[in-house]
Amino acid sequence: MSVLVYTESEQGKFKKTAFEVASYAKAVADQMGTTVTAVTVNADDVSELGTYGVDKVLKVSNGDLDKFNANSYASVIEQAAKQESATVVVISSSADSKYLAPLVAIGLDAGYASNVVDAPSNLSPFTVKRTAFTNKAFNMTSIDTDHKIVGVSKNAFGLVEISGSATAEDFSPSIPNSGVTVESVDKATNKVTIADAEVVVSGGRGLKGPENWGMIEELAEVLGAATACSKPVSDLGWRPHGEHVGQTGKPVASNLYIAIGISGAIQHLAGINSSKVKVVINTDPEAPFFKAADYGVVGDAFDVVPALIEKLKVFKAQNA
Ligand code: FAD
Repeated sequence: MSVLVYTESEQGKFKKTAFEVASYAKAVADQMGTTVTAVTVNADDVSELGTYGVDKVLKVSNGDLDKFNANSYASVIEQAAKQESATVVVISSSADSKYLAPLVAIGLDAGYASNVVDAPSNLSPFTVKRTAFTNKAFNMTSIDTDHKIVGVSKNAFGLVEISGSATAEDFSPSIPNSGVTVESVDKATNKVTIADAEVVVSGGRGLKGPENWGMIEELAEVLGAATACSKPVSDLGWRPHGEHVGQTGKPVASNLYIAIGISGAIQHLAGINSSKVKVVINTDPEAPFFKAADYGVVGDAFDVVPALIEKLKVFKAQNA
């Protein structure tokens, strides 16, 4: 009766969230006095999971699962949970996992809590802390079904390394005809996506126009970051809509979020609250973003950003 964790990967490589949910599953398993089993889909090297508390890996290798399909993936997780008699299933709160978790919940007749930020405070009733109102509040939720699904918020629990190792075994679940076939996936190459980025460089209306985005892209390149923007910037057509972050755009949960020429309206902050360290560059010392930021530079982006790029280039050259 181990705790089951679904560890997401892309093109054979684990996403960082995979190690975070594994760390979380280990904390739950320790409380329950049991072990952790991970289920992986087309991941190459699963040994690293042992370092994050996984005892056993059910390794699924199946070309039909190369492209993400919520119905098929949910079925794989459900079959793994049944094989392991797992009553607790841990997944991330990524966009993909938010699609499949409710399907797993239906299959297992389970209760599902998303956006969980801490290990259970109690096992009976099973009680977890979750974010609410776009990260402005917390609530305590208890799940009283026999099976429980916990969706862990990104960057909330962190990575906990231990000196463990995991055994791996092949797992060949049946793949149901989901009725939906993903024919192809077109992705921008060589670009870090906002969802997976450790660092995000974001620009607002303070940058005056699309012709000034060169320095945002250069800063992002130096930092290995994704680029993002505020809503008006994408509404004005200065940047693609896929870069708009906030309440009505994409959520960002990066380790570092650099906001340049963004005022910090409540709708913008709602989408970036989960980022660990927030840096703001703004000419107006009264801009609301300064209240939410960890570090702030009161200054003109057109002076500060080029200077920052130069300093970072020197730093990188000296530390290469
Ligand atoms: P502005 O508010 O115009 O701020 C520009 C900032 O740049 C100012 O603080 C200014 O001091 C600074 N500045 C100017 N020149 C410079 C310079 N040279 N160097 C440095 N700083 C400079 N917004 C979002 O971003 N995401 C959302 O998801 C979102 N959803 C919304 C949903 C609803 C229902 C509504 C009503 C609004 C939503 N908004 C959203 C809009 C939001 O309310 C703000 O209008 C928007 O975030 C402001 O964008 P901004 O900060 O880029 O522009």
